[in-house]
Amino acid sequence: MTEIIDGNAVASEIRDDLTGAIETLADAGARPGLATVLMGDDPASQTYVNMKQRDCEEVGIESHHVDVDGDAPPEDLYDAIAALNDDPAVHGYIVQAPVPDHVDYRDVIRRVDPIKDVDGFHPENVGRLVTGDARFRPCTPHGVQKLFEAYDVDTEGKDVTIVGRSDIVGKPLANLLIQKAEDGNATVTVCHSRTVDLAAKTRAADVVVAAAGVPELIDGSMISEGTVVIDVGVNRVEADTEKGYELVGDVEFESAKGKASAITPVPGGVGPMTRAMLLYNTVKAASLQEDVAVDLP
Ligand code: NAD
Repeated sequence: MTEIIDGNAVASEIRDDLTGAIETLADAGARPGLATVLMGDDPASQTYVNMKQRDCEEVGIESHHVDVDGDAPPEDLYDAIAALNDDPAVHGYIVQAPVPDHVDYRDVIRRVDPIKDVDGFHPENVGRLVTGDARFRPCTPHGVQKLFEAYDVDTEGKDVTIVGRSDIVGKPLANLLIQKAEDGNATVTVCHSRTVDLAAKTRAADVVVAAAGVPELIDGSMISEGTVVIDVGVNRVEADTEKGYELVGDVEFESAKGKASAITPVPGGVGPMTRAMLLYNTVKAASLQEDVAVDLP
C-alpha cells in the first residue's frame, strides 16, 4: 500500500506547536512580526503574500506589508529593506520573488539583515547551512525534512535523487541531506536540465525529490518499487475548470503512486509545509532577537 503523505496534517501540527512558542514570547512581552515586501503587482505573488499574511494571523504572528511600485528604481526597494532592518517590531521578512527585471534579486538578498532573513537566502545564512550550523533553513527544504521526520523516512545511508538545482529548493536540500546529522547522512545526487539520463538517476534512488518546475516530468517508469517520492513542483496547466487551469506537480501522480512506498500529492504535500516553516523561522527569529528561549517543533 502506498502511503499518501499528508502535508496539510503535518503542517497543522507544526502550527499548533508554534502556538506554544508564540505564547512564551508573548508572556515575555514580545510578539513575533513578519513582513512581506512586494515589488510590482504580479497576481501570483500577490496571492502568495496574502496567504503568508493569513497564516500569520492564524497563529498570532503580527503581519506587516510593504508595497513597492513595480516601475520604481531599485533604491526604493533598498530603502524599504533598510527600514525593515531597523524596525524592532519586524523580526523577519521576505522579499517576494520574482522582482522586476531591472532589479537584481541577489543585490536585494544581500541587503536583508541576516538575523531577519527568514527565507534563509542571505549568503551568510547559506554559508552557515553548508557548514552545518544553519540559523534559518530555507522553508521548502526544511518542510521536506519535516515530512521525512513525520513519516519516519530515515535518510541515513539512503540514495536521494533531487531533480532541480535552484538556490531555494534543490541546492539547500542537497546540502541539508548530506550533513553529518540525524536528519541528513544521505548520499545525494542533484540532477538538472543538463543531466544525461535522468531516469537512470531517479530509478537508482531510495528517495526522489522533484523540484524542476516541469509538469509531470517524472512518471512511474522512472521510479523503482518502494521509492519515497516527494513532489515539490507546482505547475499551472490549462484545464477545463472554472479557472481555466489546474495545478499539477513535477510527478505524474497516478503512475508514480503505483511504484512508490510513499508519495506527496499536489496540492496538499510540500506546499503547506513551506508555509508552516516560514512561521517557524519567524518565531525562531523573534526568539533570537528578543533573547527569549522557546521550544520549537
Ligand atoms: P527553478 O526554475 O529555479 O529551478 C528548476 C530547476 O530544475 C533548475 O535547476 C533546472 O536545471 C531543473 N530542471 C529544469 N528542467 C529539467 C529537466 N527536464 N530535467 C532535470 N532538471 C530540470 O525552480 P524552483 O524555484 O526550484 O521551483 C521548482 C518547482 O517547485 C516549481 O514548480 C515551483 O513552483 C515549485 N516550488 C514549490 C514550492 C512549494 O512550496 N511547494 C516551493 C518552491 C518551489
